[in-house]
Amino acid sequence: YLPRILAIGDELTGFGGAAMILQDVTKFRLLDDAKNNLVGTVSHELKSPLTSLRMAVYLLLEQNIGELSPRQRDLLETARDDADRLLRILNDILDLSRIESGRAALSRRDTPVRALLAEMAREMKPIVDDVGQRIEIEVDEAVTNVFLDPERIRHVFVNLLGNAAKYSPEGGVITLYARPAGDGSVRFGVRDQGAGIPGNEVPYVFEKFYRVPGQARKGAGLGLAIAREIVLAHGGFIACASKVGEGSDFYFHLPVAAPETQAAPA
Ligand code: ADP
Repeated sequence: YLPRILAIGDELTGFGGAAMILQDVTKFRLLDDAKNNLVGTVSHELKSPLTSLRMAVYLLLEQNIGELSPRQRDLLETARDDADRLLRILNDILDLSRIESGRAALSRRDTPVRALLAEMAREMKPIVDDVGQRIEIEVDEAVTNVFLDPERIRHVFVNLLGNAAKYSPEGGVITLYARPAGDGSVRFGVRDQGAGIPGNEVPYVFEKFYRVPGQARKGAGLGLAIAREIVLAHGGFIACASKVGEGSDFYFHLPVAAPETQAAPA
């Protein structure tokens, strides 16, 4: 950041102004880092008691510890579902803080795109079937392999496909596609025929914990923030095109090839 801000400051206001801008940016970054560290630490501390609490509820439900009345079973099942949900949220927060702080190294390799998308469609089929929708795959024939971390990019697709299923009515088609995007990158996308997102909300949906008001679905507002961090770590970008009542297209661009390795001096 520093050289760019100095240059802008020099041009506009002279060195004094530039120094002020620098100080502010640093302050914000430090605050942001401190906040992320705090959230990460708290989540980490919550995880182990929650894991044993969840285990206890599972044991009560699954083992023959004693006869459960229907009311007791009902309450324990609610506790189990909520513990599962909390654990998912904590894992998402921890994942996000790892990626944001650069502690999650990518393990990239040349990955066949068609196979990856087919696997995603297979994996998400039960969830999508459950809400009466189906997935169609469209891979342009010019797209073959992309240099990416398959585990991390699978996580992006799980979040995008999960949202497409969650925010679409029954009977919709979800299109999972990949096509060349120019500049040596590939555009991956998940298009749905769902509720859509009002234009003024679109810029915020990738922010942590942001949820479009009035959508009564389960979730913590972390899925898209995680997707964005993973895509940025790959040197790509993520965006959304959406129309209320027609559907949304969440897409991301990734460079096809490994970054050029520096040629050794002769
Ligand atoms: P979550 O789904 O857990 O709330 P996300 O970060 O995945 O969190 O999404 C943020 C918000 O963006 C959602 O709460 C929802 O309001 C909106 N959103 C995401 N995907 C879609 C979609 N495919 N269609 C309509 N709205 C969506």
